[in-house]
Amino acid sequence: MNEILINLHMHTTYSDGSGTHADIVKAAQDAGLDAVITTDHNVLVHGPAGYYQDGDRKVLLLVGEEVHDQTANPQKNHLLVLGAEREVAKLADDTQHLVDTIKEMNGLAFIAHPVDPAAPAFGEPDISWEKWEVENFTGIELWNAMSEFKGLMKDWFRAFFYAFFPKFVARGPFPAAIERWDQLLESGKRVVAVGGSDAHALRVNIGPIRKTIFPYKFHFQAVNTHLISEQPLNGDLFHDRNLILDALANGHAFIGYDLPAETRGFRFTAHGKEGNASMGDEITLDQGITLQIALPQRSECRLLRNGKVIKSWTKREICSYITTKAGVYRVEVYRNYLGKKRAWIISNPIYVRV
Ligand SMILES: [Zn+2]
Ligand SMILES: [Zn+2]
Repeated sequence: MNEILINLHMHTTYSDGSGTHADIVKAAQDAGLDAVITTDHNVLVHGPAGYYQDGDRKVLLLVGEEVHDQTANPQKNHLLVLGAEREVAKLADDTQHLVDTIKEMNGLAFIAHPVDPAAPAFGEPDISWEKWEVENFTGIELWNAMSEFKGLMKDWFRAFFYAFFPKFVARGPFPAAIERWDQLLESGKRVVAVGGSDAHALRVNIGPIRKTIFPYKFHFQAVNTHLISEQPLNGDLFHDRNLILDALANGHAFIGYDLPAETRGFRFTAHGKEGNASMGDEITLDQGITLQIALPQRSECRLLRNGKVIKSWTKREICSYITTKAGVYRVEVYRNYLGKKRAWIISNPIYVRV
C-alpha cells in the first residue's frame, strides 16, 4: 500500500488568499507534501494544475473550488468541489442540483467547515453548513483548521495569542462535527471525512506590526489528509489526479495532525474469512472480523463502533480487536502536545455489514 500526503482546501489571490499558486507549490515542497488542492471561492482556475519539481522535491498541484451562494446572508453552506471539469459556482442557489451536477461530472462534493462558529468580537458570522437535507455528497471536511482558530477568537487577546502562536490552536474536530458525522454514518450513508487547512496566509498590518498569520507552510505541516492507495503516484498528471480523486471518493484516507509528530504509517484494516478491507471499505461479517490498528508511535488509541468507544489502548503500537457485530468502525488517536490532549489521527470508517 502507498500513502499519499495531501493538503486540500486553500485560497490564493484568485479569491481571498494572499499567495499565488507558485507560493503554494513552494510551501508544499518545503513541507514535504505529495499534493495540494487549491479551492478558491466560486472560481475554477484553469492553468496551474500540474507537477512542479525543484531538485528532488516534486509536488502535484490540483485545482478545485469552494462554492457557496453569494446572495445568501450570512454566506453559509460552503461546498468543496474537487475533480469537476466545469465551473459550477452559478448553480450554488440550489444546493441539491449543485451536488447532483458535480456527481454527474464524476466530481466530488465535500461539505466545507460543517461547524464554523461566529466570532462576534470580530464581526465574523457563523458560516456552518445548514442544508443537511441535501443528499449524495461525498463527505465532510470534519476538521477545518481555520474554523478551529475562529472558535478560539473570543477576544483580541486570545486572537493575538493564537495568531502568533498557531501551534497552540489545533485540538481536534469540533465535537458537534463528529456527532453529525456519526449520525450520518449510522443512518446507513457512506460519508468520507477529510481534514482541510482552509489556508489563506492572511496578511495583517496592525500599527508597526506586519505579519502573515497561518502561512501556507505552517498549515501544510499541521492538519493533512493521508490517502492510502494500492498504486503509487507515477508522475503523470492525469493518472495521479484520478488516483487521488479515487482515494478521496472511496474514503481510503485518514486525517493526520502532523505537527506533534508525523502520522505517516497509520493503518486501520479488517480481516475476515473472505478477505481484507481498509478504511472506506465494506467487509462482510461472516463469523467474525479481526480489526487491526497500526500506529506510527505509541499513543492513546480508541476504537469506536457506531460512534461509541468500545475499546481503548494507551501503550501499544499495534492494537487488534475481534468483533462478531456488524457496524461502522472507526479509530481516533490522541496525544499530549503543548500541555493539552489533542487529536492526532482520525480514521475513515470500515463498514462491517451482515
Ligand atoms: Zn468556506
Ligand atoms: Zn475556504
